[in-house]
Amino acid sequence: MGTQFWNFSAGPAVLPKPVLEQAAAEMLDWRGCGMSVMEMSHRGAEFTQICDEAEDDLRTLLGISDDYAVMFMQGGATAENAIVPMNLIARNASNSADYVLTGSWSVKSHKEASRYGTARVAAAADTERQIDGVSYNPWCWVPPLDSWRVQADASYLHYCSNETIGGVEIAQMPDMQALGAPDVPLVLDASSHFLSRPLDVSKTGMVYAGAQKNAGPAGVTMVIVRRDMLGHALPYTPTAFDYVNVAKERSRFNTPPSYGIYICGLVFKWLLQLGGLAEIEKHNLAKSQALYAQIDSSDFYTNPIQPAFRSRMNVPFTLASDTLTSQFLKESAQHGLLALKGHKSVGGVRASIYNAMPMEGVTTLIDFMKEFERKHG
Ligand SMILES: *Cc1c(COP(=O)(O)O)cnc(C)c1O
Repeated sequence: MGTQFWNFSAGPAVLPKPVLEQAAAEMLDWRGCGMSVMEMSHRGAEFTQICDEAEDDLRTLLGISDDYAVMFMQGGATAENAIVPMNLIARNASNSADYVLTGSWSVKSHKEASRYGTARVAAAADTERQIDGVSYNPWCWVPPLDSWRVQADASYLHYCSNETIGGVEIAQMPDMQALGAPDVPLVLDASSHFLSRPLDVSKTGMVYAGAQKNAGPAGVTMVIVRRDMLGHALPYTPTAFDYVNVAKERSRFNTPPSYGIYICGLVFKWLLQLGGLAEIEKHNLAKSQALYAQIDSSDFYTNPIQPAFRSRMNVPFTLASDTLTSQFLKESAQHGLLALKGHKSVGGVRASIYNAMPMEGVTTLIDFMKEFERKHG
């Protein structure tokens, strides 16, 4: 028997095995039509069915009403960081939007938006902070949601609901009424925890997510936007990135990333069969609780994040020295535990435990961590 591999990559990341198996079985001939999905016209009956079903299944999973457009686009969340302000920052005459900075990705979003209008900072975790007697480093805590300074004339409020690199998750949504900005819609970069738990889309103006973290292969960006916010695109917005055009054509304004959409569709069906987002959330909660419990059980491993905002998807941790970290990464790879190296900007170890990572993978990691500590602690 070969080594059992477990893939902890932050993205592109592990996909459900049944999905890959089905894709393999259908690779050469999709359901007797004589073509691979890759070879189909994006306007033909077959792909129309695949794409519309994917959209409908995503709507079912998240309970998205028809007040929202659901689109499959290209360019990743990085392109979306520009496409969002191009489409939305001119909603209000202020030509401004407010951003909450909690780590690498939200900082990038803010910087990109400032090229298209006034991008203000509503709150930032860019300093050290004492919370309940514990000191947290920059980007390891979240400014209290009731302290965000949102301007009532902002075209939207943007935040990253799961910082993939830092391992910071904001599952709660701010009370915009209490913040004095009831009409300012929320815009979430949810890339790395999209479909990992229920999300009340109706409380947002927009949600976007690159597929390659938790929903499919690279090349697809999922974009959900409230239709009444559309129609204010900046004049130089590329026509293929104007949400009005893409929404009108149900993701087929131009050739969409068709094979990627097909795989996303299979992932959506896999989730629906499993029982939906409330069900997958239980698995994700159990996996992350087990891993954090192991990290917290001794001083050998440390997670630096304010406990209330620890990510269920991306779990970074450090060891006492760089030498120990390198040793950990080397030995874990030999045990079939792949891609555990932390992002280059923060170092250490990061275990991404997305939907498709079974509990067995997490317990294998935990057993390895125990053994490694016994040997080197
Ligand atoms: C990965 C990621 C991005 C960037 O995605 P690309 O597909 O590389 O553009 C942006 N935001 C978050 C939260 C991410 O996890």
